[in-house]
Amino acid sequence: MFGWINGCYIWYRHEIEISRQKRGENIRIRNRDLRNYNVGFLKVIRKNEEDKRQGTYWLCECSCPECTKRRIPKLVSIRQDKLLEGRTKSCGYNKDLQETRGAKNTNKFEVNQDYCVGYTYKGEKFYFDTSDYDIVTGVSTCWHFNDSGYVTARDMRESSGRYQTTGRRKIVYLKDIVMGKQKGEQVKYVNYTAKNDNRKSNLMKVCGGKEIERK
Ligand SMILES: [Zn+2]
Repeated sequence: MFGWINGCYIWYRHEIEISRQKRGENIRIRNRDLRNYNVGFLKVIRKNEEDKRQGTYWLCECSCPECTKRRIPKLVSIRQDKLLEGRTKSCGYNKDLQETRGAKNTNKFEVNQDYCVGYTYKGEKFYFDTSDYDIVTGVSTCWHFNDSGYVTARDMRESSGRYQTTGRRKIVYLKDIVMGKQKGEQVKYVNYTAKNDNRKSNLMKVCGGKEIERK
């Protein structure tokens, strides 16, 4: 009997602790002072209480090339999470340069007999098999290197999934697309130092640590 009561008590304390942590976290984030915080071309001036949209908004001053030309800096209201995650870096002066924007073509392709060279908007090269050209360009024509050096893009296919929180299309890796990765599988590089080489000869499928497929 005592054991059961004690068990309930522990569970009860645990629930209280969790809700406290959640509240504490929210308070911390809500009261964070971002004044003078810099991200990309933006500098945070003050909290924008006038912006009544859901969430916390900060008024930022933009110093992108366009705003500098105008000499009167543009003031933009940016949601806090976008600032902290570095997703918004300017007033949006040049949307073509935003790497993950899926609708615009930023790639150029050079199609050879057995392999293709893709160029990112920065002119960086990546490689894949010519037989994969249709699927690669069908997923996106905005492939770019992420911070870890992998070629990634937003999956623009009709069938692609979206993030629950933002409604944005999910990010996919070129290596996974090329190898037709299934749930539970991983795609690894034969030569790990050449992550720009996404030809099948440089890729292998791994499941539970075991190599299962190599073309
Ligand atoms: Zn600007």
